[in-house]
Amino acid sequence: MAPMSYCPECGNRLERHLVGGEERRHWFCRACGVPRHDHPLVVVTCFVACDQQLLWVQRELEPKRGLWAIPGGFLESGETLAQGAARELGEEAGIWLPPEQLQLYMTGSITFINQVYVAFRATVDSVDCKPGVESRACGFFSRRDCPWEEVAYPEVNDSIRQVYADMERGAFGIWEAQMSEQRYALREVRQGLQQGGQEGR
Ligand SMILES: [Zn+2]
Repeated sequence: MAPMSYCPECGNRLERHLVGGEERRHWFCRACGVPRHDHPLVVVTCFVACDQQLLWVQRELEPKRGLWAIPGGFLESGETLAQGAARELGEEAGIWLPPEQLQLYMTGSITFINQVYVAFRATVDSVDCKPGVESRACGFFSRRDCPWEEVAYPEVNDSIRQVYADMERGAFGIWEAQMSEQRYALREVRQGLQQGGQEGR
């Protein structure tokens, strides 16, 4: 269970929530008399492809300042998943795409950092991009040239490799990733069609 030691309402120290002697997977504030949840946060990302290259951004903010990542961030209140992904893409790389243009690509559960992520993908015709205030730089990289040694979140490297593989085969599936500290599993829940098939772009 992720650490959350103080009540966000009253500031008292939280306890494990025991119900009938069984420990629940959330906290309890004795002062407020209510459970305090720390549900997983939702991260939205967007893989943007141009030919065989993928868009990366170099972070300007902590954490992981100076390291490279796929554009993305936390979903905010009131946003749909695609709206959040499109916003992050615009803010970090200056590429403003309508949310309807983003295609669902991957869902992931990362239990050890208490996050779920939803990744979209999009294709653009030009490598034009411009780092926003949260980014130091951005650019399109082929699988060979991308900054594998300087990635901010190596736990999702396998997912990124899958994007490059899908780009190379010219067919994007829809993937479900499950990551725990012990295990990384990636499952194609809908097979991608080869280019020229019925799939929209
Ligand atoms: Zn409280």
